[in-house]
Amino acid sequence: MIRIDSVTKRYPDGTTAVDRLSLEIPDRSITVLVGPSGCGKTTTLRMINRMVEPTEGTITLDGVDITRQPVNTLRRSMGYVIQNAGLFQHRTILDNIATVPRLLGWSKDRARGRARELMERVGLDASLARRYPYQLSGGQQQRVGVARALAADPPVLLMDEPFSAVDPIVRKGLQDELLRIQAELGKTIVFVTHDIDEAIKIGTMVAVMRTGGHLAQYAPPAELLSDPADDFVEDFLGTDRGIRRLSFFPSAALELQTQPVVAVDATEQQIAARRAFGAPYLLVTDLAGKPLGWSPADELTAGPVDPARLLPYGRPFVHGRESLRAALDGTVLSPTGWAVGVDGAGRVTGVVSQQAVAEAIRTAHAEGHTAEKVAG
Ligand code: ADP
Repeated sequence: MIRIDSVTKRYPDGTTAVDRLSLEIPDRSITVLVGPSGCGKTTTLRMINRMVEPTEGTITLDGVDITRQPVNTLRRSMGYVIQNAGLFQHRTILDNIATVPRLLGWSKDRARGRARELMERVGLDASLARRYPYQLSGGQQQRVGVARALAADPPVLLMDEPFSAVDPIVRKGLQDELLRIQAELGKTIVFVTHDIDEAIKIGTMVAVMRTGGHLAQYAPPAELLSDPADDFVEDFLGTDRGIRRLSFFPSAALELQTQPVVAVDATEQQIAARRAFGAPYLLVTDLAGKPLGWSPADELTAGPVDPARLLPYGRPFVHGRESLRAALDGTVLSPTGWAVGVDGAGRVTGVVSQQAVAEAIRTAHAEGHTAEKVAG
């Protein structure tokens, strides 16, 4: 574990970049430092690998003061990824990734073998190996940066705004990839960003910092959203805090109803039986069980259905995998006020009303509240 203990950094010109910061960074998880520009995030990150030395306080790694070991040994245990990847422009992708293993004395073949393995791990096609960085997109370069940082298999990864320079869609892909890599490799990651949504998405723990290098709050994302420590944190979180918090509540708790679901080839009797259930709308599915749209219950008859005349079903949520936020979104997107639950293959597993989602939200809030209290 990395422990930052009462650390202050004053630069020679008198700027206090970090002010008595204490943080316990848990192993094998992603800790995000987030806050407005100039609040001391990068300085904090760089003190962890001693690119910047603290003015006061200590940083320990597994209980040992990081100043007690040679700086090169320390840095070898910490991969470092920066914005725009910082690749060596005159080296191929493969040799960029192989840089640290080569420095560690690995043979060229072994280092390149390792680099190929990492290209696959970070989702880079093997055909890119011989290219140079300028021949890659921003997102691909960023993946190379991550692969290079992982090359010597360091237990710690320090990432400084690694995805800030790429467009939102590529960025989402990189975030998902990082979460996957983290789950597979169990690295301890310290991640700097100014984007609170990114922090909430990828952080196991999130440290919100404010100008002057002060820690405003250190908590898991769900807790930041439910209990911001003060007005600064609340402002920084932005709008829709309540709705965004719902992404931490699984949809598994929702009981889906199958009665209002009817296949497109249903007989008059089957439709009558569905109608008897009393729901105002029936969801019509195709023969594979995928949703086509809603019909007012009393208007549906057996025989050919014109999908264009059905009401839209919004975006289905994957029951159990997605959150109550996705379920709520589904109810809001359909004019019927009902959301459609599907399995991983997109087949309807049941439907749920806005009212039932609201009920589940209330229950989740009540339980979440209790859990937080129990946790202290
Ligand atoms: P962030 O990463 O949150 O944007 P930084 O850690 O880069 O913040 O900077 C924190 C503060 O320290 C800022 O006011 C910045 O101008 C100042 N600072 C950063 N590096 C230096 C330096 N080498 N010399 C003087 N001031 C610095």
